[in-house]
Amino acid sequence: MIDRKIAYFSMEIGLENAIPTYSGGLGVLAGDTIRSAADLKIPMVAVTLLHRKGYFNQKLDSAGRQTEEPVNWSVEEYLHRESAQATVTIEGRTVKLQVWRYDVTSSGGHIVPVYLLDSSAAENSEWDRCLTDSLYGGERRYRLCQEVILGIGGLRILRELGYSDIKRYHLNEGHAALLTLELLREVKEKAKHKKTTDADLEKVREQCVFTTHTPVPAGHDQFDVELAHSVLDEDVCNNGERFCLDGVLNMTYLALELSDQVNGVAKKHSEISRFMFADYTIDSITNGVHAATWTSEPFQRLYDKYIPGWKEDNFSLRSAFSIPNRGIWLAHEDAKCKLIDFVNETTDADLDPDSLTIGFARRSTPYKRAQLVFHNPDRLIKIAAKHGPIQFVFACKAHPADGAGKQIIQEIFKAKESLKGKIRIAYLPNYDMDLGLLLTSGVDVWLNNPIPPREASGTSGMKATLNGVPSLSILDGWWIEGCIEGLTGWSFGEAARDMNTPNHVDADAESLYKKLEKDVVPVFYRRRDDFIRIMQHAIALNGSFFNTQRMMLQYVMKAYF
Ligand SMILES: *Cc1c(COP(=O)(O)O)cnc(C)c1O
Repeated sequence: MIDRKIAYFSMEIGLENAIPTYSGGLGVLAGDTIRSAADLKIPMVAVTLLHRKGYFNQKLDSAGRQTEEPVNWSVEEYLHRESAQATVTIEGRTVKLQVWRYDVTSSGGHIVPVYLLDSSAAENSEWDRCLTDSLYGGERRYRLCQEVILGIGGLRILRELGYSDIKRYHLNEGHAALLTLELLREVKEKAKHKKTTDADLEKVREQCVFTTHTPVPAGHDQFDVELAHSVLDEDVCNNGERFCLDGVLNMTYLALELSDQVNGVAKKHSEISRFMFADYTIDSITNGVHAATWTSEPFQRLYDKYIPGWKEDNFSLRSAFSIPNRGIWLAHEDAKCKLIDFVNETTDADLDPDSLTIGFARRSTPYKRAQLVFHNPDRLIKIAAKHGPIQFVFACKAHPADGAGKQIIQEIFKAKESLKGKIRIAYLPNYDMDLGLLLTSGVDVWLNNPIPPREASGTSGMKATLNGVPSLSILDGWWIEGCIEGLTGWSFGEAARDMNTPNHVDADAESLYKKLEKDVVPVFYRRRDDFIRIMQHAIALNGSFFNTQRMMLQYVMKAYF
């Protein structure tokens, strides 16, 4: 396994639901990337942190107030401890790193090993022993220490494990950017250079691929130079000095400077990124999802029958037009029942299996506007009274430090109370990958309404697509590419212009109500065959394209080799 050519570095990876080493979209994408790399026999190895306490378990009280608890999981049950060890220097201390392995194995038997770094060695100080515990926990100092472990420790562990033939390093977001400085150290050591030359930098660039994931400036990782000086090894700091701007070490900028292939995660996102970082060439490879992972059992059986081989060749989903309407509807009813049963068993929402069910699940943070559909409740009640009942299922976690995001959850709980008897609303706590599949396959319509253009890509709508569930979404991220109005789903609201596009709450909410009133609800209740035709197009046109198999083939063509 050590003849690997590509090393994939990510702060979070969604390996399986019971392993809480992911928080949301970025980690799920990393997991799907690796699963598709295994399917395609790409010679890849991956590196992340152990996250012994995970991201967090979400607890919600009756008013929707969120509190967080660490996740307890048994590392030994899922991972294999390797004997290799490495060290990094943090604040002048030597920190010892251990490593665990998880094998992602394709159905054909190809393996992509994932290495999870662990700082809990007995020799380390108490603070250092906790560094690999909490995903996105702690303050800036904690985060920078984690990034030293991921970027610098990650490469050293790969060397200790015997990986000496890696040609390309893929940085999934800027969190792993310190890897570039460790590669630079290696290059200089080999060339016996004391001072960094342009040729040294070029040698690093030739090895690095960088995927940037957010157009929101606050989403770009950066650290004060003073903090960087106190945490980083002097060597690393000296090499990194030239990449500091205005007193900050910006990880996106560092990764941009030292990667010769950079891409955004959807066409629009790349356009915004090129505008933000005008000095760099930024290509675009639109995200995807792992088809076999994100297709519900009823649809798996349907595809097995009508499109045999679809797991090995996702493009073949293009022929979903050959599946009879009735088959699609029965599979959907099956998946929907599973969701409704789960909701009714675990909440008091009392959902009705025959009602139009709209799903919304993502990180709760202001720009995603989870509460938008309740902006004018009377409007919603009227639409339901006239065209047929509408019910909602929500599931959102807010980052522990995101007070405004937590507030939004409470607003949804309030709407749930005030709309009682008129609009049924369920809120499921602790959104994770299992819930992700249950929701995206079990609702009738998948809703998304960020303030554009802040949603870099979004992938939950792609999961829905594989289950024949059309999206109703603002034109942002992947939906700009995936939406054919009235054919693969629906769009609403104002399209994105630039990062200064204001929050048009009134207009966007009104546009959403119009779309529900004129199209979505009447088509669902009165033109069922048209609705199924839309489901079929969602699978054929979008399921066949917005998957990680196509995405990885693009990485192979444009970035890896
Ligand atoms: C797919 C997924 C996401 C990402 O979906 P978005 O559309 O980007 O919000 C986040 N969290 C979980 C648990 C998921 O399964």
